[in-house]
Amino acid sequence: MDSLKIMKNKHLEVFKELEILLHYYPSESDDYDYLQAILKRRLKNLNETNGDNFVPDRISRKMIYVMVHGGELDKIDSNVANKEIKFNNLQTLLDEFVERESVSELNFGSIGYRPIFKFDISTGGRGKESLLWLDIEKYIKDENILENDFYIEKPIDIFEITYSRKDVNEVKPSWFTKLVFKNNELKMRSVKGIAVMLFFMSGVIVEFLLVAFAFLVFLLIRDLKTLKLWEALLYCTFVPMAYLSWVGLFRPLHNLMTHRVIKAPDFFISINAENADIEMYKGKDGYKVARVTEFIATCPICSAPIELADGKPDQSAPLVGRCREAPHAHVYSFDRVTLKGFFLGHEGYLEDNLTPYKTR
Ligand SMILES: [Zn+2]
Repeated sequence: MDSLKIMKNKHLEVFKELEILLHYYPSESDDYDYLQAILKRRLKNLNETNGDNFVPDRISRKMIYVMVHGGELDKIDSNVANKEIKFNNLQTLLDEFVERESVSELNFGSIGYRPIFKFDISTGGRGKESLLWLDIEKYIKDENILENDFYIEKPIDIFEITYSRKDVNEVKPSWFTKLVFKNNELKMRSVKGIAVMLFFMSGVIVEFLLVAFAFLVFLLIRDLKTLKLWEALLYCTFVPMAYLSWVGLFRPLHNLMTHRVIKAPDFFISINAENADIEMYKGKDGYKVARVTEFIATCPICSAPIELADGKPDQSAPLVGRCREAPHAHVYSFDRVTLKGFFLGHEGYLEDNLTPYKTR
């Protein structure tokens, strides 16, 4: 518990410090405005999830463009935004601010962490957008800052990945989720939250009663002279239906309490959505909040997207990160708190060279 608090405060401390710096060294440049907009959004979201761990909010360049220049997200041409906003420039600007601070002695050094950009340069799928977010990393003062182009220069480490949550606007909820969740979140102690829990609990009870009833009918089948064939068939369907909804809906929801993250049952996500997760976290008032979200990462071996999936049958953890292109070879662990994942696949990869394979 304490370690979580420290972690969150470090993020807040670092970003607040950066905010002061931006204030202190204002600039007319567009890059400065972009950096400020990204930070503002980061800080806003950090306050919202107060009491929880750090939630990286991945944003596209289009989104940054809209935050600074206004307009509507759907109407902005990605090419314009991509031309306007260069990751390298943002990285350099951020490094400059970190460097300035070490001169003025205010200091990320005393916090022990500095702000960094993290990038997700995705190559596959429909959303061809590259995403970025602000994170922190241990601050080493003597670091040669010019060498910090690490998101290009650093050799790719295939043994470790970093997950992030998809932007809330990109997660497609079902009509049910839209109805009862607000912004994809549901406070469990609210009237709605309790109503939803009662709804699912009564669902379980009704299923149980139906199954019991079906068994009773089969036991007494000889004595029920008026039982028609179609009625008997109908009662037969109760059993598999109950089983399927238990496996597909009620059991995952029950697991949510202890596992904290589950794959979202179909009931909660839009028919066109392929993938979503539900996580349970402690809201700022100390009560639990269920959130429909999506954890993703980029596979360092083949650069395809990594999604959470059942650990069965090859892994012991209930949820692992599986690469969409090689779901049983490129497998990573999943840690909801640190958002880190470590390679779980065949040890042959450990001896292999580290050159990533390129997909088309
Ligand atoms: Zn892969």
